Amino acid sequence: MKAVTFQGAKDIQVKNVEAPKIEKPDDVIIKVTSTAICGSDLHIYLGALPTHKDYVIGHEPMGIVEEVGPEVTRLKKGDRVVIPFNLACGDCYYCKHDLESQCDHSNTNPHVDSGGYLGFTERYGNYPGGQAEYLRVPYGNFTPFLIPEECDLPDEALLFMSDVLPTAYWSVEHAGVKKGDTVAVLGCGPVGLMAQKFAWMKGASRVIAIDRVPYRLQHAKKMNNVEILNFEEYDEVGSHVKEITSGGVDIVIDCVGMDGKKNLLEKVGQKMKVQGGTLSAFEIAHESVRKAGTIQVTGVYGSLYNMFPLGNLFERNITLRMGQAPVIHYMPMLFEKIMNKEFDPTAIISHVLPLDDAAAAYKKFHEHEDDCIKVILKP
Ligand code: NAD
Ligand code: ZN
Repeated sequence: MKAVTFQGAKDIQVKNVEAPKIEKPDDVIIKVTSTAICGSDLHIYLGALPTHKDYVIGHEPMGIVEEVGPEVTRLKKGDRVVIPFNLACGDCYYCKHDLESQCDHSNTNPHVDSGGYLGFTERYGNYPGGQAEYLRVPYGNFTPFLIPEECDLPDEALLFMSDVLPTAYWSVEHAGVKKGDTVAVLGCGPVGLMAQKFAWMKGASRVIAIDRVPYRLQHAKKMNNVEILNFEEYDEVGSHVKEITSGGVDIVIDCVGMDGKKNLLEKVGQKMKVQGGTLSAFEIAHESVRKAGTIQVTGVYGSLYNMFPLGNLFERNITLRMGQAPVIHYMPMLFEKIMNKEFDPTAIISHVLPLDDAAAAYKKFHEHEDDCIKVILKP
């Protein structure tokens, strides 16, 4: 079968690889119908999350069940499913407490104490990913989201339940956004755009979107009616935010993480804050939040990110929250909101391309070419 494979930094290729087989009695195999590229895939693409040659990438797929293992009771051949990026057993303490991203069983890497994630390298369980024609999904009785037969929405409306929508919704909830809060969202990629939308839905009184890419800022304004700020226009963007909000925003949601474009990793060990334009998102976050405010870190930071301003956060009573979103918990609620048309999940899509075009699609997405925001690949 065809699959998107990692060959080296900024080198991904669609190759013929062996099709997956049922390995455990509760596995399912799905025929992938749509599969998206995520900002998290860019960390792999750029080599910031190391993996081996020929590793199959992708953690935002959906499709049709092709085959089920003998112990799968919840699904049958022909069912339509969305696969969350969290792979989760459904039985452990974390799965039973709505924290599937920390499932005790799905990460088979003995050195990493977190859940296992689809297509997210050896570090998170070495599961081949979903940018492929076929995919093996473990924990078939818990992990996949079954789309009810009567739902006739196209893939485009449902696919982002795999990651972007639950991640953004959880970010806003985990940050504690409530009625009247002022919220700054760093990043106008798919996750940031949806976090802005959900911040309004939770009752925020003011939402400020921060990025450096003009077309993405414009998209945020159009899609979410937010105030926009291009941080490269300010030497001290945090001071500017403090000025326009009389002391800082209540909540900052960092939907950026390691910024491959400026390659933060190359700067580890050096002084990271050089000028306005080279501020990391986390620095902007702690400089923009008010005293006793909250920073929610949703963007992914690798363990190499060690320039941590603990003293500054301590003396200003900042609450810091973060992590991998427990996606599975949020899928049924978001499915209902999509069915009720409470928001339009397709508003982030810029490109729908054949799987064969994956290499060009990654480049477009990373280089911000062709007004790229979110790419769906069709195997
Ligand atoms: P994306 O790459 O499309 O968007 C990131 C945006 O941030 C870009 O528009 C970029 O221009 C902007 N940016 C760069 N530096 C910035 C800065 N200093 N301040 C403000 N904006 C800046 O990615 P995405 O798909 O929207 O994902 C965003 C982040 O969320 C990624 O790090 C991804 O790995 C992470 N993520 C986390 C989870 C989770 O469970 N925690 C789930 C999904 C994605
Ligand atoms: Zn993702």
